[in-house]
Amino acid sequence: MPRFPPSPSPNLLQRLFSSSNKRSSSSPTAALLSGDFHLRRFSSGNAARAAKGEKEPWWKESMNKVRNIGISAHIDSGKTTLTERVLFYTGRIHEIHEVRGRDGVGAKMDSMDLEREKGITIQSAATYCTWKDYKVNIIDTPGHVDFTIEVERALRVLDGAILVLCSVGGVQSQSITVDRQMRRYEVPRVAFINKLDRMGADPWKVLSQARAKLRHHSAAVQMPIGLEENFKGLIDLVHVKALFFHGSSGENVVAGDIPADMEELVAEKRRELIETVSEVDDVLAEKFLNDEPVTAAELEEAIRRATIAQKFVPVFMGSAFKNKGVQPLLDGVVSYLPCPTEVNNYALDQDNEEAKVTLTGSPDGPLVALAFKLEEGRFGQLTYLRIYEGVIKKGDFIINVNTKKRIKVPRLVRMHSNDMEDIQEAHAGEIVAVFGIDCASGHTFTDGSVKYTMTSMSVPEPVMSLAVQPVSKDSGGQFSKALQRFQKEDPTFRVGLDPDSNQTIISGMGELHLDIYVERMRREYKVDATVGKPRVNFRETITQRAEFDYLHKKQSGGAGQYGRVTGYVEPLPSDSKEKFEFENMIVGQAIPSGFIPAIEKGFKEAANSGSLIGHPVENIRIVLTDGASHAVDSSELAFKMAAIYAFRLCYTAAKPVILEPVMLVELKVPTEFQGTVAGDLNKRKGIIVGNDQEGDDSVIQAHVPLNNMFGYSTSLRSMTQGKGEFTMEYKEHSAVSNDVQTQLVNAHNATKPTD
Ligand code: GDP
Repeated sequence: MPRFPPSPSPNLLQRLFSSSNKRSSSSPTAALLSGDFHLRRFSSGNAARAAKGEKEPWWKESMNKVRNIGISAHIDSGKTTLTERVLFYTGRIHEIHEVRGRDGVGAKMDSMDLEREKGITIQSAATYCTWKDYKVNIIDTPGHVDFTIEVERALRVLDGAILVLCSVGGVQSQSITVDRQMRRYEVPRVAFINKLDRMGADPWKVLSQARAKLRHHSAAVQMPIGLEENFKGLIDLVHVKALFFHGSSGENVVAGDIPADMEELVAEKRRELIETVSEVDDVLAEKFLNDEPVTAAELEEAIRRATIAQKFVPVFMGSAFKNKGVQPLLDGVVSYLPCPTEVNNYALDQDNEEAKVTLTGSPDGPLVALAFKLEEGRFGQLTYLRIYEGVIKKGDFIINVNTKKRIKVPRLVRMHSNDMEDIQEAHAGEIVAVFGIDCASGHTFTDGSVKYTMTSMSVPEPVMSLAVQPVSKDSGGQFSKALQRFQKEDPTFRVGLDPDSNQTIISGMGELHLDIYVERMRREYKVDATVGKPRVNFRETITQRAEFDYLHKKQSGGAGQYGRVTGYVEPLPSDSKEKFEFENMIVGQAIPSGFIPAIEKGFKEAANSGSLIGHPVENIRIVLTDGASHAVDSSELAFKMAAIYAFRLCYTAAKPVILEPVMLVELKVPTEFQGTVAGDLNKRKGIIVGNDQEGDDSVIQAHVPLNNMFGYSTSLRSMTQGKGEFTMEYKEHSAVSNDVQTQLVNAHNATKPTD
């Protein structure tokens, strides 16, 4: 498996960003993301209020002092090191530990060694710290595409982010992915070019790469004094001063004069900064065009406006490892990234067909809080909440809108990476953890006065399944516990039982998704499991209307059975919201109304397993037009059986087809291998929908049936001498070709027990 998603071409990026909301709503990913892509807008309420001379509400000032941020990076850029330093300078930890666990302690944020090995962040931890008089919550952001739900949740609770780039490695493939995700979720960001002390460090090259590859409208707000082993400090281009980092851990930031030999360059870089910002900020533009001097305060305000409007990315620099540049970056977070009320958030009103409702972000409003993360640690079961509106207090009763359960808040805490602090209450904009409440990630809590949810209640159907079984019988208890927990954390992860083999089947959004859970089971729950071959989740549907008229009759001695159902089945439009519809159009009393639910149940049960290959049948409408009953022998069971047989009999006449998940595959391969890779995609029945050139690489997009993608990472590696990368995400279910259908049906029939 390639470790990192490939870098899509600018064209692709454009397509992804500009058309993201136009994606087919039948795609689970789209369903997952839809309603969220455009849920965020940046509020101009402050300015409007100030202009009208209105007094700010009481909570405004404390809210201005909150920052909820994420730190995103390509692996090895120094995200962990930077986070550690942030915790140190904000007084959260009292000494700096070398990351990679060289001293046996390891960095504080990284609690899962699995993350480390796989090179991806799976769990999002949240930690609270204070910088000057600001409250800063750092939410760890997972960066892998397979974890759409985790990515979505982590990103939506952020108001801003730091994108860490390596000054040697530059903009790498995963930097592009995480930046794309942040752009999708409209998260304003600052960039931090790290590792200026390393040989080959070139922040200016990285800056121009960010402009070209990430299409950032950006400029440096700092410049280095010396580089590589001569890296001594930074120049703050906004306030025009030099910064040096003294003390054994760089804890004393000392301001100094600009070195004389740098004055000219500093003036040039400051001018470049002002010019770049004025291209997107009218207030600054006026000053710039009139050639008036720009004060530090004016420049700072303009950068803030432009960053929050996502028109500009300020670029910071430093070396986390050498303890240089972290404190000014924190200053940058509070100066340039938005506070919670500068982001407009929306909820979906469950009383009004999920209509979007703007949340005020005020503690005065009714409580609305999103459970974005569950964690079972040494403190027991913890739920992380982002409060969007209202106040939550210890001892309060709150309602889980998704389950309708009323829950008392037993204990409220603020998490500091691994330690915690008990608190009595928390306000809108804050991130807190609650003990011992029963919910799943993604659930919304309110005080009961509104029925809002922060995410759509519809969850995508899994595309792949796997049989799992604990190796040792003794670990059965832990095995079930693990599966229960994972299901709670991730609604795209499902657990079921194969009725034929009696095996436990786990289902999810891809091979890696399922792999990770098997691995987590081993590490966190000490359960070794054997896994079966991954299977694609096919579905079946019908393509034309077919009539049914079935009489179920047994009258040989004892209580008889009698039920007759007449009507038709027909396909639902492919974009219909419901997958199964049942309608009773009987006029009169041909069937007593008490039996109708049993008939619907019978049809539903029959549709659970289509007779082509035994997979669920979807997009069907069943219409009951007539029937007959018997005064003595009719029963619910008789009608249910009649429905099941009626469905089976008319199914073939309705010309059923098998649907398979089709994936959007994005590849980046050196151009010399393009022909081979494209040929191979053809063999896999893929349709190439895009092909761009990016330097020496070809970027290919294709739609490929998931069933033909098993083991693709290994094939791609051998086709491209290990130089190719790919990502895939679910696109839609579509009908298989006739010959594939025949093959699948034959294979299914061959495994059927002969009776
Ligand atoms: P992550 O994968 O992004 O979390 O990166 P880490 O923080 O684990 O850092 C990866 C490696 O880079 C580690 O060996 C760090 O010690 C090293 N590193 C991090 N920041 C710097 C830096 O500023 N300069 C140098 N020279 N090395 C750094």
